[in-house]
Amino acid sequence: MIIRNLDLQPHQTMACASQAEAAARVRSLAELREALAWAAVQGCPVRVLGEGSNVLAAERVDGLTLINEMVGLQVVRQSDTTVTVDVGSGINWHWWVRFSSAQGWHGLENLALIPGTVGAAPVQNIGAYGVEVEAFVEQVEALNLRSGEQRIFRHKDCAFSYRDSVFKGAERELWLITRVRFCLPFHFSPVLTYGPLQSLQNPTPRGLIDQVCQVRQQKLPNPWQMPNAGSFFTNPVVDQAQADALQKAFPGIPVFPAGQGRCKLAAGWLIDQAGWKGQSDPESGVGTWPQQALVIVNPQKRPRSDVLAFAERIQEAVEDRYEVRLEREPRLFG
Ligand code: FAD
Ligand code: NAP
Repeated sequence: MIIRNLDLQPHQTMACASQAEAAARVRSLAELREALAWAAVQGCPVRVLGEGSNVLAAERVDGLTLINEMVGLQVVRQSDTTVTVDVGSGINWHWWVRFSSAQGWHGLENLALIPGTVGAAPVQNIGAYGVEVEAFVEQVEALNLRSGEQRIFRHKDCAFSYRDSVFKGAERELWLITRVRFCLPFHFSPVLTYGPLQSLQNPTPRGLIDQVCQVRQQKLPNPWQMPNAGSFFTNPVVDQAQADALQKAFPGIPVFPAGQGRCKLAAGWLIDQAGWKGQSDPESGVGTWPQQALVIVNPQKRPRSDVLAFAERIQEAVEDRYEVRLEREPRLFG
């Protein structure tokens, strides 16, 4: 059950050359506990991998890499207006979006076609087209990778915020999320505030999913054909005074309200206007995607160091021009 020297290149969408010292596929709590017992004897670090769509893997990942394949789905309760469902963390996210919507359980439609597993969704509070997963997460069940303790994180314990949660912050790399409990309404209230969805009039749930998929397929590279990890940087959130100064210096710069008097900038626009859209490094081939400068692609499946070196050049260019530091979104793995 423990696999030595596993090639991790096919296990992450950025496809960086990478090898795990040891790895184990876990399909149940029993398998998880068995793998953790092995790691405890070795005294080695343990890391969790879902579908690898938000990681940058080191060339050699030490210790034990757990590949999460825990499935299972159970309706916990229903009211007149909502259903509450426990979903295994290894289930594919897009499958869950389509399945839930087809059952008449709504809310997740805007999050269609986001790669990855259900268990990784709360980690960075995945979001797209004005919807964040936290709106539908009642609780998260997790197992401590060091002590083996099982814990339920209620919504308030998860410290969700914009593309962030306790699992990315204070408690990072400490827990394996085993199940996520969703509470979904039967009533379909589509969120159509983003440009590409505004033309839809009274869409059906299926129509909304199809539109989201179509827009994403046009704009984003398919990660299994063109290696990438989605948005490489998070959108910077700045104070009002800085946003005002930027709007004066760069008329047309998109600025969105981010709550509490703060403003969100579009990282893709900053990179594009700094002249980096569609640019690539001639030697490594690492570059930005012509349809969305926020996505860094790795066509030659180069090691992470090449990707990070290219990203650093973008960070410097953006900082020189706008005095805004872009923060990396994908997690360093190993
Ligand atoms: P992985 O990449 O395997 O892991 C990501 C992190 O979560 C790692 O730190 C890992 O240790 C941890 N982790 C994974 N599973 C668990 C678990 N069960 N318990 C605890 N920790 C865990 N993100 C968005 O928010 N919105 C988007 O619209 C979006 N679009 C994308 C488009 C593309 C083309 C790509 C490649 C990525 C996109 N992403 C987007 C990022 C990514 O899909 C999400 O972050 C997704 O939730 C990652 O899931 P995963 O299973 O691949 O996680
Ligand atoms: P887009 O629609 O071209 O928008 C560009 C940026 O402007 C986005 O980052 C978005 O912020 C912001 N924005 C646009 N309209 C907005 C509105 N009405 N209100 C508030 N903010 C608005 O973006 P895109 O690249 O095609 O992506 C579409 C959606 O999918 C976005 O929500 C994006 O976050 C998500 N996505 C995420 C990833 C990832 O890896 N994290 C990858 C691909 C797509 P937000 O990003 O905050 O929404």
